[in-house]
Amino acid sequence: MAKEQKTKKSKEKTPRQPRRRFSPRRRRQSTSIFFLLWTVIALLSLFIVLLLSVSQRTLLVHSYKEQATREIAEQGVDIHEEIERTLQDGPPPAYQPNNVNGYIRFLNKTYNVEILLIDEDGRLLYPTDNLEVGTPEYEKYYDQSENLRLFLEHWQEGERAVIFEGEGECVYGAKLTQYDRTVYLHIGKSLQLMETTLSRLAVRTVLLGLFVVVLTFAISSAVAGLLVNPLTELTEKAHRLAEGDFDVDFHGADYGRELVELADSLNFARDELSKTDRMQKELIANVSHDFKTPLTMIKGYASMIVEISGDNPEKRNKHAQIIIDEADRLAALVGDMLDLSKIQSGLAQLQMESVDMSAYLQEVLDRFAYLRDARGYQFVVDIEKGLHTTADKLKIGQALYNLVGNAVNYTGEDKRVYISLKEEGDTFRFAVRDTGKGIKKEELNDIWERYYRSSEMHKRPVKGTGLGLSIVKSVLERHAFRFGVESEVGKGSTFFVIFPKNG
Ligand code: ADP
Repeated sequence: MAKEQKTKKSKEKTPRQPRRRFSPRRRRQSTSIFFLLWTVIALLSLFIVLLLSVSQRTLLVHSYKEQATREIAEQGVDIHEEIERTLQDGPPPAYQPNNVNGYIRFLNKTYNVEILLIDEDGRLLYPTDNLEVGTPEYEKYYDQSENLRLFLEHWQEGERAVIFEGEGECVYGAKLTQYDRTVYLHIGKSLQLMETTLSRLAVRTVLLGLFVVVLTFAISSAVAGLLVNPLTELTEKAHRLAEGDFDVDFHGADYGRELVELADSLNFARDELSKTDRMQKELIANVSHDFKTPLTMIKGYASMIVEISGDNPEKRNKHAQIIIDEADRLAALVGDMLDLSKIQSGLAQLQMESVDMSAYLQEVLDRFAYLRDARGYQFVVDIEKGLHTTADKLKIGQALYNLVGNAVNYTGEDKRVYISLKEEGDTFRFAVRDTGKGIKKEELNDIWERYYRSSEMHKRPVKGTGLGLSIVKSVLERHAFRFGVESEVGKGSTFFVIFPKNG
């Protein structure tokens, strides 16, 4: 099982303030999700309705006119011949004597068209018998100059007939002669049906538009409800979290990946905040405990010197030594805390230089000589010579010292600690192994955290402050060196650092 710490510049977690009421910052003028959704969906749907209706209209007009033109072209030829014959020979026998008006009305009915015969002045020649002469209706009907103008506009000499679009109708026009005068034939196929269909379509479009607005209102409020409700719930819980309630459980809706992710992120933030909060409390408890024990001892032994051992040099020296040791422990604790806060706040600049790690590691190990000589610890050392790297010598020394110190503290009954420095391609690897209880898998990540101390308190030969590994982590991350720990419960742990090789 190997856990390697990624080197990353993690942001300092600022200690959380005691519970405060959450007061939202002044809000900018904002629109609700529902209104936004509604506007967007409604506009889009209206646009689609409009587009459909325009294309339908264009298609309808086009095909209707095409059909009317085709029909009038076919019917026009037959009617043209009939009228030509009528003007020359008179109408068929059934319409005799010479009832042209009657025959034209018959043709109108048969072909469902309007046939007009117009003279060169734009006056109506036939059919004129269905209106009373002299009435305004008659005058209006009688005056066909506009139709004549349109006809002449389209007419081309030499053609037998012409087809064009007139006022609300499709027109088949031709020039005929009767008694040596020119007569203009005008056969109109009404587009009235198309106009009616179009205006019905317009009404339907407006109705459809209204329906769409209402429908989108319903859809938007349903969709907005689906989105807004979980968001409102998340916001309300985030407020509670901001006020220091770490029991809140964020769960977005079961739908919507983004909502689920948001809820997951908030849960993660809650866990981290609650961890920092817990660790902070533990730090205060640990630090007070660590400060209190030596202070109590210092006070106790100082009192003993004053009251009892002052006159006995041997005892007095022994008690004074205890006072000195405890004061050292206090100083180490304060020193570690200062170091850590300096490194983590970035105040301490790295003094980079080329370091002969092989020699320097030996120097670091020499500081543990008293444990080997007086306490029976065994250091099994395997250091390859001449391995150089670029680093801040003092800080790296401190990191290695902490790692070896931990191995001493946590190694097993055999009191053995294995240290090695080995070349590996472009790098070389420092490793320190102990034979202790190892570290549980679930604790592997946490041990590097500031304030973290395992629940088990050891009687340790190297004074620990609970900040050792945080210092190691901060120093190595600042150097961007890879490092990590491999551990097996019951067998021991190996902490390692990979150094880039110089040259
Ligand atoms: P301290 O050792 O003073 O408690 P550290 O920051 O050095 O603080 O270590 C944090 C925790 O990591 C320790 O309390 C211990 O539980 C665990 N730990 C560190 N090194 C080892 C090791 N070599 N073997 C087992 N556990 C270790």
